[in-house]
Amino acid sequence: QVEEQPLIYFDNAATSQKPQSVIDALSRFYGKDNANVHRGLHELSARSTAAFEAARAKVACFIGAASPGEIVFTRGTTEAINLVAQSHAASRLQSGDAILLTEMEHHSNLVPWQLLAERLSLELRFVPLLDDGTLDLEVFDRLLDEKVKLVACVHISNSLGTINPIREICRKARGIGATTLIDGAQSAGHIPVDVRDLGCDFFAFSGHKMCGPTGIGCLYGRHELLEAMPPWQGGGEMISSVRLEGSQFKPAPQRFEAGTPDIAGAIGLGVAIDYLTELGLEAVEARADELTCHALARLGEIPGLRILGPEMPRGSLVSFSMEVAHPHDLVEFANSRGLALRGGHHCTQPVMRRFKVPGTTRASFAFYNTLEEIDAMIDILLDARRFFG
Ligand code: PLP
Repeated sequence: QVEEQPLIYFDNAATSQKPQSVIDALSRFYGKDNANVHRGLHELSARSTAAFEAARAKVACFIGAASPGEIVFTRGTTEAINLVAQSHAASRLQSGDAILLTEMEHHSNLVPWQLLAERLSLELRFVPLLDDGTLDLEVFDRLLDEKVKLVACVHISNSLGTINPIREICRKARGIGATTLIDGAQSAGHIPVDVRDLGCDFFAFSGHKMCGPTGIGCLYGRHELLEAMPPWQGGGEMISSVRLEGSQFKPAPQRFEAGTPDIAGAIGLGVAIDYLTELGLEAVEARADELTCHALARLGEIPGLRILGPEMPRGSLVSFSMEVAHPHDLVEFANSRGLALRGGHHCTQPVMRRFKVPGTTRASFAFYNTLEEIDAMIDILLDARRFFG
């Protein structure tokens, strides 16, 4: 209940709700098995290490990696992208090299590259957006020349809903020898993802957007690339031997996991994967499509409401602006009726500038939402139109 009304949660793109099995797994771990991983020889440490590594294996299987060794646990998508920027890219790129991004990137797939570009005098190039919120692939082809050493692109845009042609992008990037990094924050756990089928070198995602706990996420990296990358943070767990004058490092993925990891988070993520696998990713996707189609049709009935982004197929979210009210006012009005929407730039300020809006209101759906909740949102938005108009 929110504001004494039944909650309608349409902020799933920011973070999803958690199934009871995930909440129980966290509680069970801390209640029964809690110990640090890898360091101890006692029973609890063996249990927590086994559960932590089993979670890594589940992630590998879930996204089609060749082995668990290709999965690095991180805090989330943001940290995974920073890891690639500071380790892989910082050690391979040189002054004058270019990185190709798109205008629809989340700030977490933009700012790390800006920082690196400044440090190494790199050129950043951006694939522009067409009016329907898709990438201008003709310009992509023109921008992709031999100076480009890395292509980083979002799989599903969190502010437009656009599903990008990742397979084609990776194929073309591979053709000129560039490395690819895919931001899968809005695709992992939402649609079936197979990193080898996509053909990407790196794939980053967050557990909390796919029914898992906050504070845990993953970087998938192709084995040869991870093995060749230098450490990016130093500390315990990532070393094989330490002398005062220098250290030797473990192989990947442990080389990139300095310090005590989020053990409970990884175990919880594994349980979220079990949950989604039981539902079936195809069923999860079909349900999200059904909800999104219904929302697009019903939102289209509201006069003066502009929807950003493409027609179906698209991700399970709709960003829109209404003439009568600023997104923040709309979100506050919706909250007073028990409806959780998100208003603002959604960490994609360049997208807002491209479409000449200060921000949008976003409704993002998950498989546990219903068509009736969408109809209730439409009634609330119609009321808002009367209230602000
Ligand atoms: N990329 C996209 C497309 C996102 O939607 C988000 C989160 O909203 C992120 C990256 C960053 O994810 P996190 O904050 O979990 O690191």
